[in-house]
Amino acid sequence: MNHKKYVYYFGGEKAEGEATMKNLLGGKGANLAEMVNLGLPVPAGLTVTTEACTDYYANGCTLPESLMPEVWEGMKKVEQEMGMLYGDPDNPLLMSCRSGARASMPGMMDTVLNVGLCSATIPGLIKKTGNPRFVYDSYRRLIMMYADVVMEKSEGVELPEGRGIRRQLDEMLDQYKRSKGISVDTDLTADDLHDLAEAFKVRVHEVLGKPFPDDANQQLIGSIMAVFKSWNGKKAVSYRRIEGIPDDWGTAVNVQAMVFGNMGDSSATGVAFTRNPATGDDIFYGEWLVNAQGEDVVAGIRTPNPLNEDTRNEQNKHLPSMQDLMPEIYKELDTYRTNLEKSFKDMLDIEFTIQEGRLFMLQCRAGKRTGTAALNMAMDMLGEGLIDEPTAVLRVHPAQLDELLHPICDPADEKNATPLVKGLPAGPGAAVGRVVFTAEDAVKWNRKGEKVILLREETNPEDVEGMRAAEGILTARGGMTSHAALVARGWGKCCIVGAGKLHVEEGKKQAKIEGTDQYIREGDTLTLNGTKGHVYDVEIKLMDASENPRFKTFMAIVDKYRTMGVRTNADTPADAQVARDFGAEGIGLFRTEHMFYGEGSDQPLFLLRKMILSNTREERQSALNELYPYVKKDIKETLLAMDTLPVTFRLLDPPLHEFVPQSTEKQTEVAQALGLTLEAVVKRGELLHESNPMMGHRGVRLGVTFPEISEMQVKAIFEATAELLKEGHNPVPEIMVPVTCDVSELDFTKVIVDRVYKQVCEATGVDVIDYKYGTMIEIPRACLMADQIARSTEFFSFGTNDLTQMTFGFSRDDIGGFMNDYLDNKMLPVDPFQTIDFSGVGQLVEMAVERGRATRPDLKVGICGEQGGDPESVEFCYKTGLTYVSCSPYRVPIARLAAAQAAIKSEGKSYELK
Ligand code: PEP
Ligand code: MG
Repeated sequence: MNHKKYVYYFGGEKAEGEATMKNLLGGKGANLAEMVNLGLPVPAGLTVTTEACTDYYANGCTLPESLMPEVWEGMKKVEQEMGMLYGDPDNPLLMSCRSGARASMPGMMDTVLNVGLCSATIPGLIKKTGNPRFVYDSYRRLIMMYADVVMEKSEGVELPEGRGIRRQLDEMLDQYKRSKGISVDTDLTADDLHDLAEAFKVRVHEVLGKPFPDDANQQLIGSIMAVFKSWNGKKAVSYRRIEGIPDDWGTAVNVQAMVFGNMGDSSATGVAFTRNPATGDDIFYGEWLVNAQGEDVVAGIRTPNPLNEDTRNEQNKHLPSMQDLMPEIYKELDTYRTNLEKSFKDMLDIEFTIQEGRLFMLQCRAGKRTGTAALNMAMDMLGEGLIDEPTAVLRVHPAQLDELLHPICDPADEKNATPLVKGLPAGPGAAVGRVVFTAEDAVKWNRKGEKVILLREETNPEDVEGMRAAEGILTARGGMTSHAALVARGWGKCCIVGAGKLHVEEGKKQAKIEGTDQYIREGDTLTLNGTKGHVYDVEIKLMDASENPRFKTFMAIVDKYRTMGVRTNADTPADAQVARDFGAEGIGLFRTEHMFYGEGSDQPLFLLRKMILSNTREERQSALNELYPYVKKDIKETLLAMDTLPVTFRLLDPPLHEFVPQSTEKQTEVAQALGLTLEAVVKRGELLHESNPMMGHRGVRLGVTFPEISEMQVKAIFEATAELLKEGHNPVPEIMVPVTCDVSELDFTKVIVDRVYKQVCEATGVDVIDYKYGTMIEIPRACLMADQIARSTEFFSFGTNDLTQMTFGFSRDDIGGFMNDYLDNKMLPVDPFQTIDFSGVGQLVEMAVERGRATRPDLKVGICGEQGGDPESVEFCYKTGLTYVSCSPYRVPIARLAAAQAAIKSEGKSYELK
């Protein structure tokens, strides 16, 4: 029978896979194969494909029939390469089972190490290594991991909060050490570890109702299944949601021969980056621990040693580096660093183990990096000739730009403050917030609108939601490669790790500062400087990162590859200027009504209210006349800020009742102005009440009922333009009609526009005012009628906020209350108000573009809903042939980069760093 190939061998000189096979072998598997092919020393092993995982789920969580026979067959090659036999009593081979999806998901899935240790193999391994302590240490670690990952989590066993088997075994270990007066694990003897392992097995049986399997084959099958299961574990699912990784990718499993960094002082283990992941500097950067297993480095239990001089910092300056202690091996590793970078043409994150003086490479993958590092490395590698321009453009994730534009501590203000404690600068920028001690609290407080700093002893994958919700993350333990550091860096979030002077008392929601009687308590305000690693107990002023010349050069390259326009949504001349500085090529949405909110809006708002509460056309007209100069001034200043670039002015959109005065004071003011009683004003306000205002009297419908409102705005646009023309400027106005559902509404409004145009030209003596007339497309019917609508308009702008609302029937204002239920139940892959719903709303957009352009081939089409600044939505817009996207000023660079990347990707290039 012909079945799928589920298992790929790697080892010796040649692997069955290679770097390009990420989808099938996962990132880790593909890169292990590549390292083998590059001649690096990699312990032999097998990659079980992602397809095996998806088939496992498709078969109702049963391993495909041909899988294990293939594994056993492959194991023969591994055994041959390693010169050991799996499950053999004399010369036993041990294996690790690690997850490895297409995109890296650090710490989110499970791993089992030392698989294959059982009563049959223990004596042989002791004999062979002459090191019973090492063997029993490995054995107790296997029991802990296997019980936790395979027997508890993957079996879905629910133990009471805080009573998980891993926790219980950890407590037994601590208790044992205390009873023997031992403080560090390395002081435990072989007998101690043997006794502990036996006690562990008894506890495992008691708690989980099954014995720990004393059979090497059973252990391997259990571990592979558990890794598959961990793909759908709670933390992995939650991480995928945040990172936008599809649920149906599945994970590969890498079953690899174990090598040991804990076999004494000539053994070690470490992790390194081929360049500095925080700054991008071209230095080898890493941490290592003598006589330890890989998990010890990232767990933050021991402070790792610096790899070399370049990696020394406050926390590790007293510890010996690998460069000092094992210079030959360091040199070998440094050569691999160079070879790997040459081959992968990227900064890599590598894991290695030294077993009794012999170096093994365990893993390499594109390293997570801060936005600053991504930008610097892309520009450096471009300069070094390692990569070309399009690759450099793809190397910075659009969301990372956010971080380059992020606030930093105002140096003048920071100078006056003394750090309370210091830690490692794991995530850039600065954050101010109130301290919480648990991830749940971070989420809760954040929902209430509080800015929070999450302070933890160390973070673990269960904390991701809280980390996401926090402004900044602070941990007492861990290094630059700890969980908190990796995750925060990936997100570009401000983060400080390893602030060792903090003694966290989570239960009491406080942290003591070592050497003082000071405490940080829940609710206290802290400022983090994530670039320096300084923590302050005062609020420091934040400011935007200063002009970065490299950023500008990079963005200039970006624009070389971008074909789609990027505009901004701006409602004030000041916002327009910011956006222009960020490279906006015009305003795609000027929401006229925003001049009635915020600073300086008192008088125009009062006049607007007067207009709204008017009863007769005359009253209304007189209020509009008073309002007119304010509207015109705002329009003129904005046109000037954007001189030579288009500005799309949208006619009044919101339902009028939104502006009705609510307080008695304001009602009285309007009553006086209109010569009415207070009761009469209240009554008029009540009459404007609507049951469903978002589908009520708003947008173009207001102009149908009250043409004089449209007229006033159109006149302001034309007059402001005419004046600017006379003053020698080049204003480019566009008039946009909102909430349209039929061409008749546009024709109705166009009559007003044409009339006012003529009047203004006559009055000002300007012959021609160049402008465009267009509409928002934000109602499904408008998409269906786009061919007709395009007859009367020169441009469309998709209002995907409303279009999403009306296509789903999800109220924009109420969705917050239940969107998470849809996301948690995987009923929606992402929030469609953030990223366009490609399959539903996207179809309507595509249809409207096609129909509109069938009528008017040169129809300009843009988007101005919130999704216009979302990188994935920008890519969709590019593919759909939109002329431009429009987004808030700070997202303009993000949209520019996303648009350039979409153009480059359409030529077949790609880069994934997840
Ligand atoms: C939209 O609906 O997408 C839009 C941009 O308009 P508003 O958010 O103002 O309704
Ligand atoms: Mg809208």
